[in-house]
Amino acid sequence: MSDTITSTAPAAPKVGFVSLGCPKALTDSELILTQLSAEGYQTSKTYQGADLVIVNTCGFIDDAVKESLDTIGEALAENGKVIVTGCLGARQGEDGQNLVRQMHPSVLAVTGPHATHEVMEAVHQHLPKPHDPFVDLVPPQGVKLTPRHYAYLKISEGCNHRCSFCIIPSMRGDLVSRPIGDVLTEARKLFQAGVKELLVVSQDTSAYGVDVKYRTGFWDGKPVKTRMFDLVQALGELAREYGAWVRLHYVYPYPHVDEIVALMADGLVLPYLDVPLQHSHPEVLRRMKRPASGEKNLERIQRWRELCPEIVVRSTFIAGFPGETEAEFQHLLDFVGEAQIDRAGCFAYSPVDGASANALPGALPDALREERRARFMEVAEQVSAQRLLRRVGATMQVLVDQSIGLGKKGGVGRSYADAPEIDGVVRLLPPEKASKTYKVGDFVKARIVTAQGHDLVGVPV
Ligand code: SF4
Repeated sequence: MSDTITSTAPAAPKVGFVSLGCPKALTDSELILTQLSAEGYQTSKTYQGADLVIVNTCGFIDDAVKESLDTIGEALAENGKVIVTGCLGARQGEDGQNLVRQMHPSVLAVTGPHATHEVMEAVHQHLPKPHDPFVDLVPPQGVKLTPRHYAYLKISEGCNHRCSFCIIPSMRGDLVSRPIGDVLTEARKLFQAGVKELLVVSQDTSAYGVDVKYRTGFWDGKPVKTRMFDLVQALGELAREYGAWVRLHYVYPYPHVDEIVALMADGLVLPYLDVPLQHSHPEVLRRMKRPASGEKNLERIQRWRELCPEIVVRSTFIAGFPGETEAEFQHLLDFVGEAQIDRAGCFAYSPVDGASANALPGALPDALREERRARFMEVAEQVSAQRLLRRVGATMQVLVDQSIGLGKKGGVGRSYADAPEIDGVVRLLPPEKASKTYKVGDFVKARIVTAQGHDLVGVPV
């Protein structure tokens, strides 16, 4: 089992929890764990020690589906009482029945993602609430699965787009933005609890508030619009108050993102944008039915760099999409160099059950998709390495993620250019004073002395 939490209150019913999937699933897990803890349930780190097990699943790609189904099977074999939630819970099998129920008929309940209420109802039914809930034991920021110094903040659920390779909207539904007051209240609690870096996540961060027509909400007694700019500005001001960072993920390149980049230039939020572009060629983007596919992405990125020269752009791409010609692929390779994408990830296209792209003509052989992925990564890594080299000699602020003690006393951290888990790190050489060590969650200033692969090496200044 992974991602489990223990507590010491006696005689309370115990729930085992397995959290699989992306940061959005992680925030769902945190909400459920917070509610369990608020109601006085304990959590168990073993299947055998639990009265019941909740598995939060991922259903995005075939490997994730297999991992989720295997984990459910393991929990059933080891414990027997299992509630399933998450993306896989919303998927149908070939016969139109719920896939999880079809594969594991003995599970107690199955819900889709973002379903704390339904999961809690199932828990109450199969493991009644303890009489004396230990509400006071729950920290105000809720239970987090990330290290104490950074946290994901989910601002909306679902997506209004219908990208042809993706089934997320059919699993998570259309966009539902969280009330801006709730989002900002959660952000403040996280900062108060010691979070130094807030990572804003959603399926489409640029679309925040579209579903509620940018309704005016309230926070701190003041009106504030449910709109990306207003949210990012308020988060940036809060972060400044607490000496923390805000990092934006899943931002589509709409024109209004220019306003956000201006906030980055003002130092209010980190000059880092995670923009899932997936391709550069207009025809491929059209077949993918990508949001903002009509935007001139190269010009837009160049404009961002004019507005905020230190901006770092991370993106993900798909190689070998159905019908992709060699010329279209070459366009993508040229784009990565011209746009100077700082950090790039690439998947070889893989059909997902239920996605409309499966019906597109011109499927490419597996070997060609994989070959294009490898060619892409070769070019992208060269671009990335050159961009990293420009840092050598610079002094950067680094957030310490790890302290290496016992004699060596080095550390590992990240600069504004590195998101946790997906980008590189800054390896910190030991401080000159032998008595000093790095403390996780502290900011240190480091002079960059060299680049190593995706990482940098720095000495404290
Ligand atoms: S924007 Fe496209 S890829 Fe992203 S969740 Fe929505 S439909 Fe899926």
